[in-house]
Amino acid sequence: MNMNRDQPAEGIAPSGAATVGREMHDLITELYPICRSITGDGVRKTLAILRRYIPFEIHEVPTGTKVFDWTVPKEWNIRDAYVKNSKGERVIDFLKSNLHVVSYSRPIRQKMPLAELRQHLFSLPDHPDWVPYRTSYYNDNWGFCVSHRLLESLQDGQYDVCIDSTLTDGHLTYGEYYIKGASEDEVLISCHICHPSLCNDNLSGMALVTQLASYIARISPRYSYRFLLIPGTIGSITWLARNEQQVNRIRHGLVVTCVGDGGRFTYKKSRQGNAEIDRAVIHVLKHSGSEWTAQEFFPFGYDERQYCSPGFDLPVGCLMRSPHGSFPEYHTSADNLSFVRPEHLEKSLAVYRYVIDVLEHNMTYRSLNPKCEPQLGRRGLYQAIGGDSEAAKRQLAMLWVLNLSDGRHSLLEIAERAGYDFETIKAITKTLLQHNLLEESV
Ligand SMILES: [Zn+2]
Repeated sequence: MNMNRDQPAEGIAPSGAATVGREMHDLITELYPICRSITGDGVRKTLAILRRYIPFEIHEVPTGTKVFDWTVPKEWNIRDAYVKNSKGERVIDFLKSNLHVVSYSRPIRQKMPLAELRQHLFSLPDHPDWVPYRTSYYNDNWGFCVSHRLLESLQDGQYDVCIDSTLTDGHLTYGEYYIKGASEDEVLISCHICHPSLCNDNLSGMALVTQLASYIARISPRYSYRFLLIPGTIGSITWLARNEQQVNRIRHGLVVTCVGDGGRFTYKKSRQGNAEIDRAVIHVLKHSGSEWTAQEFFPFGYDERQYCSPGFDLPVGCLMRSPHGSFPEYHTSADNLSFVRPEHLEKSLAVYRYVIDVLEHNMTYRSLNPKCEPQLGRRGLYQAIGGDSEAAKRQLAMLWVLNLSDGRHSLLEIAERAGYDFETIKAITKTLLQHNLLEESV
């Protein structure tokens, strides 16, 4: 466990547009009512909205397609669902919240007594006003999720149960966006898009990925970037099965999730544990001015567990705020529009952008004056005037860069060893390059 409360580094200052967090929250608000699942029109509607911002390519993979040990499931769609009491009143109504129906519920239209209905009702006794989120993806079943208060208020009697859903041969839908950089080496950014009205777990990731992709599209990157918006688990398995031949281009990757709550940042390392992405994220968090913690890899969680399966072992970590399961609102109706805040989304985006900046500029250089120090004063680079501690700090950083630029230390390694934030080391390197004191080491 690492904790750090350093002041923010320059590179992590708010992204300029004070409204970016608000824009992210507005997008979440628009996507919130859509009933998403691992397949179906909810995912298509979601991707159609996201395409207004980013020209994602939409892929449709037919039901029954074999993907490693899995098979693309039937497509699930739902129009309506309710439970009516004997007076004909909808006591449970899908149209009020899509969380009320267990995702992938098979269709049903039947009258039944309360005792039978109760076997298909799910609630949270510890949080009696919240509605849980439940799924039944690979298990032929049906059910409703309700507040415990509602469950307890149901009177004996006959209930009219209706789930107007379809489970048919169709497709699994996912979005992919590729930005070509100077190199074919890739950075993979992945988020899941399969949860219904849940904000931190899934919608915050989509909002962040949308902003991050439009930022990277503007910077002429060194790396190529691949953004995946996929249903959890089956989506990453499907993508890996269809792209097995090209995954060796992936140099770094992050799974984006739970980035809108007010909890401290949590970085789950890749299975490799000390990949460049792991070191880059931890460096950025150290200098983020926010509380943070790092976790070693474990084989459950989000899609990193597929990217980090032993047959791939890709350098993909997961950068989030509160991890899944660690906050009571997780997978409940309380993971709502007020649980995620614009300022948290904006700070998360700033952290991600800084990580990208580190990856983009983490080059290795060679000093052109390796024999003794170059004379900095003659070049106007020796500015440490007594009492000017900032200048003195920069001066020391310059000596570190000159000393460690031997073709073997990347800028991130120099920043870490010298105890500086990457932004400072990057700026000093730029100055030294302008004075022909360094060359890129290839
Ligand atoms: Zn989830």
